[in-house]
Amino acid sequence: MARQIEEWIRPNIRALAPYSTARDEYEGELGIYLDANENPYDNGYNRYPDPHQRVLKRQIARIKGVSAERIFIGNGSDEPIDLAYRVFCRPGVDNAVSIAPSYGMYKVAASINDVEFREVPLRQDFSLDEEALLAAADERTKLLFVCSPNNPSGNSFPREQLLRIVDRFPGMVVVDEAYIDFASQASLLADLERYPNLIVLQTLSKAWGMAGLRLGLAFASPRVVEVFSQVKYPYNINGLTQRIVGERLEHPVDDQVHELIAQRERMLRELTGCPVIRQVFPSDANFVLVKVDDPRGVYEALIEAGIIVRDRSRMIGCAGCLRITVGTPEENDRLIRVLKQMK
Ligand code: PMP
Repeated sequence: MARQIEEWIRPNIRALAPYSTARDEYEGELGIYLDANENPYDNGYNRYPDPHQRVLKRQIARIKGVSAERIFIGNGSDEPIDLAYRVFCRPGVDNAVSIAPSYGMYKVAASINDVEFREVPLRQDFSLDEEALLAAADERTKLLFVCSPNNPSGNSFPREQLLRIVDRFPGMVVVDEAYIDFASQASLLADLERYPNLIVLQTLSKAWGMAGLRLGLAFASPRVVEVFSQVKYPYNINGLTQRIVGERLEHPVDDQVHELIAQRERMLRELTGCPVIRQVFPSDANFVLVKVDDPRGVYEALIEAGIIVRDRSRMIGCAGCLRITVGTPEENDRLIRVLKQMK
């Protein structure tokens, strides 16, 4: 498998002589830095940040139970999504396969990189037809995207099914676990060592409450992490983000996550009783997907009431669907009250 991964990497990337930063050439702490053409007057930000985010990686390794050499830190999950294309897919030649509906950036990043994107619809109940997914791949399929829990449907796919796909697909499988902290099912992180072709994406934008700081994580084999690191912008995570994330990671968010899960369960219950709502889909995430007869009308009526939700009704398999994020108890009270009054 290790040899295969080497072959899947685009030849120009395999042959890349990556940029070497001033701090790569000298790593110690001597005190007088005349190597990086910085302004020497200390204001807290005058030095370049650590391009390898060593301190953060040690911290994340401890929290996630994954060794630091298997961790890539990106400017949001969107960075490793884009990097996966840039590293593995030859523009105009290779292709990627994904479930649909799912997170929109897989497709946008494919288009930007001139990579054919093949969407395999989920079943009507949003379950995953793994045979159809694998059948959509051919010898030029280098990437396969599965999001679990899936956005916007909210459901998780069984672990055994995901692992079977990773096992059977001869290419890189990206499993996006952006919402895993809200799920009852365990992450695939524990399976990384067994599957060198697995890339698990997580993010600090959801449960951890740091969307504004932009920090996404890709967990993968050390070789994949090494190549991603060679291709990324050298200073992709700015110094302020590295510092603040480091501080915030010391404060667990378990209480908030439990509260959000409890509120999600309450929303699932209460929304089921709203006359305007035809169907409430099960959710393992921090949002719920509901089906209505007139999604635009309901969307606009909610806007009138000062509440913004996401109209997903034009996505594959989502006719009539609105996606509603779980808010604070007070925000959810308001949402439920407004929806209950609608006919
Ligand atoms: N993956 C999924 C499934 C998402 O829904 C989102 C955000 N909506 C992301 C990734 C992006 O996360 P980030 O903020 O880390 O770029």
